[in-house]
This record gives sequence, C-alpha cells and structure tokens, in this order.
Amino acid sequence: MVSCHEVLRELSNYIDRDVDPRLRAEIEAHLAQCRRCSMVLDTTRKMLYIVGDDRVFEVPAGFSQRLHAALAKGIGA
Ligand SMILES: [Zn+2]
Repeated sequence: MVSCHEVLRELSNYIDRDVDPRLRAEIEAHLAQCRRCSMVLDTTRKMLYIVGDDRVFEVPAGFSQRLHAALAKGIGA
C-alpha cells in the first residue's frame, strides 16, 4: 500500500494519467480509503479545471510549494 506522502507526490502525474497501471491501482486503492488524499485530489482537479484544459498543470507561482507545505503539516509525514 502506498503512503499519503507517495500519493501526494504522484498526484499531478496521476491526474495527467502519467503513472504506470500498477501504481495507479495502488493510488486508487489508497484514495478509496483515505479521505484526506481524496479531498486533495478533488481540490487539485477543481483547481486544474479553473486553470483550464489548455494548460496541463500550470499553477500560480508558489502555489504548489504552499500546497505541499500545508499537506506536509496536515499529514505530519
Ligand atoms: Zn492518504
């Protein structure tokens, strides 16, 4: 089973469908039982929707670091 840390590290790749099928299945299994990670996924997807489909994963400068810092604190990993 992958950890929250691994899920969050791979999250943008997961959203881009850029992870191998085995890892993808493990991430999905994790998301199914981890409310925190599934909330992060949901939030990230909404954010990407706002940013627009023409950009794969381009967020305002510093956003990613702030998100990860907040996640690291919340998870304590
Ligand atoms: Zn998790």
